[in-house]
Amino acid sequence: GDVAQLFSIDESLKELAQLADTAGLKVVGSTYQKLASPNPRTYIGSGKVAEIKSAIHALGIETVIFDDELSAGQLRNLEKSFGGDVRVCDRTALILDIFNQRAATHEASLQVALAQMEYQLPRLTKMWTHLERQAGGQVKGMGEKQIEVDKRILRTQIGVLRKELESVRVHRKQYRSRRFSVPVPVVSLVGYTNAGKSTLLNHLTGAEVLAEDRLFATLDPTTRRVQMKNGNEFLLTDTVGFIQKLPTMLVAAFRATLEEISESSLLVHVVDISHPLAEQQIEAVDKVLSELDVSSIPKLMVWNKVDKVTDPQHIRLEADKRGDVVCVSALSGDGLDKFCDAVQSKLKDSMVWIEALIP
Ligand code: GDP
Repeated sequence: GDVAQLFSIDESLKELAQLADTAGLKVVGSTYQKLASPNPRTYIGSGKVAEIKSAIHALGIETVIFDDELSAGQLRNLEKSFGGDVRVCDRTALILDIFNQRAATHEASLQVALAQMEYQLPRLTKMWTHLERQAGGQVKGMGEKQIEVDKRILRTQIGVLRKELESVRVHRKQYRSRRFSVPVPVVSLVGYTNAGKSTLLNHLTGAEVLAEDRLFATLDPTTRRVQMKNGNEFLLTDTVGFIQKLPTMLVAAFRATLEEISESSLLVHVVDISHPLAEQQIEAVDKVLSELDVSSIPKLMVWNKVDKVTDPQHIRLEADKRGDVVCVSALSGDGLDKFCDAVQSKLKDSMVWIEALIP
């Protein structure tokens, strides 16, 4: 890709392989090519196409995944070149697949379905131009008309989905405002996928939220009440994990879910500090947050998985140097008291404000 890369090609491909694994695929290999600019027809050059094609035959490969978004034409041309039943897809389609598998609530399912349709809309050319070719050009123009019909159908479906989603959201808002009638501050967990948000939520609340060593185990926001030792309470919300190259379309699809973030009193940014790319992941999360208009909300950073780092002493020193960082192990519970204290002091202002509202 030509965008400024936070992640090296190898790192990004490694993550793509992890995504594929999460989607239930078995990864047999990866390759890349450096070009001045992507080939408009096939994204990669013809030599690379041939190389992949022979690997497909040698290894019986069923799916080829590209780390960048492909155009409709590139998808079509690549599938044609690879031949047979080889499925070609890109990172976005793969993430959409995972989201589809993991959507647990009606709202999440609707959001994913909508995002999938919006992804398909500009790529709706394949089937019909294919038919046109088969008919030997006799029905020239028929394919084009069919595409228009299909696009119209898809747009109608998108409209229906949007309406349904809207009504689901109105419901959730009502539920949320009922929740707000008890003035308890809301703290939102944000972070890169797999950082340990669900584990932290579980440890603090005893809730049984799915925590897995997989990407995007959590799609639906989960909110739990946390009671601190001094009796004070706050609501803790776990949100969908972020990832580099998270398609803007998906950020938009989950905007409503992410609204919870913009309505919270405090953002807790959970970082897997044991990850070699922790710094880049922090940046990727900050980038998505900047798209969400939450700059006015106070933030607290949590460096998680300190039990896993080789030099915890050094990490703690670094955390002190940075300030506004708490080191924890969500797994062992180490540092969680300190975490609650930090949340408490960060919330102080808003709590004072809430107390002022209660006669
Ligand atoms: P999420 O995607 O941010 O919700 O991450 P999860 O809570 O699902 O955690 C991802 C993986 O990291 C799981 O396998 C957890 O068991 C593991 N994990 C979470 N916190 C810690 C921790 O403090 N230490 C260690 N060693 N592993 C952790």
